[in-house]
Amino acid sequence: MNNKDFQIVVLAKQVPDTHNVGKDAMKEDGTINRAALPAIFNPDDLKALEMALACKDSLKDIMPVKVTIITMGPSRAAEIVRESMFRGADNGFVVSDKRFAGSDTLATSYALSAAIKKLGKVDIVFSGRQAIDGDTAQVGPQVAEKLEIPQITYAEELMSMTENEIVIKRRLDRGVETVKSKFPVLVTVHGNANDCRPRHAKLLMTNKKACSASEAKEKNIDMEALWASKPYLKIEEWSADDINPDFERLGLSGSPTKVKSIENVVLTSKENKKINNSESEINELMKELISSHII
Ligand SMILES: Cc1cc2nc3c(=O)[nH]c(=O)nc-3n(C[C@H](O)[C@H](O)[C@H](O)COP(=O)(O)OP(=O)(O)OC[C@H]3O[C@@H](n4cnc5c(N)ncnc54)[C@H](O)[C@@H]3O)c2cc1C
Repeated sequence: MNNKDFQIVVLAKQVPDTHNVGKDAMKEDGTINRAALPAIFNPDDLKALEMALACKDSLKDIMPVKVTIITMGPSRAAEIVRESMFRGADNGFVVSDKRFAGSDTLATSYALSAAIKKLGKVDIVFSGRQAIDGDTAQVGPQVAEKLEIPQITYAEELMSMTENEIVIKRRLDRGVETVKSKFPVLVTVHGNANDCRPRHAKLLMTNKKACSASEAKEKNIDMEALWASKPYLKIEEWSADDINPDFERLGLSGSPTKVKSIENVVLTSKENKKINNSESEINELMKELISSHII
């Protein structure tokens, strides 16, 4: 990459589709049976991709802008990079290694920040607010800490974007806040933000053969000649060695979180409340929901 290019990174995670949970979704020990759930693009991360592409749209007539996806996960996560390329991303990296197994949010954010550092100059990092499987909303802020850059969390709308600063509307509990930042900055994108643009037919045709070395090996296809003539079709994979880490900070050894026990929580009927269709009862319910911060 030319150091004068404006570099945007989107952190995107492939997650099990927890909205379509069937009876095989949990194993007997209470952990997620990932094989029984379809893998999807984490919904907030699609919104982060849209905000990144909107930033690119704002700047592209002034300077070259590159949108790069970084995903950490199994080799199958290359699907996330390909999907992003169909929608306008320029390229992407799959950070994948058995040595990442058992990573909690601290180890995940460490590995992701090391991968971002490998790219060199980065102007904006976008992430989703949270992933629908882990649900902690910690990874984006932790990456900003590790990169020692400011962060704007809960971004709902891109208000403006110039080569010098970004202006974002943030969603707060009881209102909105407009924040301005210079670069570099990390932005975590809220689920209320704009939906991602659909796949672009031309980009789909251009990138449909994009794949990683692991995918090519698994499907037993020889991509070498095509990659030599069209290097953008190679989705790069980075192992732990490639991101130059402190190995102690990866995977289980870098994960202080210990899961003590896991419970299946089943909502029982006593947690339901039946009200009549009268104005006073509905008002009472509204008051209760507001005072317990449910709405
Ligand atoms: C002790 C422990 C062991 C674990 N072991 C495993 C394991 O072996 N395998 C496993 O899959 N999970 C494991 N997990 C879960 C894993 O820690 C979390 O899924 C991961 O840290 C991300 O946290 P989150 O899902 O809460 O993301 P959030 O913090 O909710 O995500 C916020 C945003 O960060 C970005 N982001 C998060 N994760 C990634 C990623 N992988 N790649 C790119 N962007 C990302 C996305 O933009 C996302 O929207 C373990 C957790 C614990 C506590």
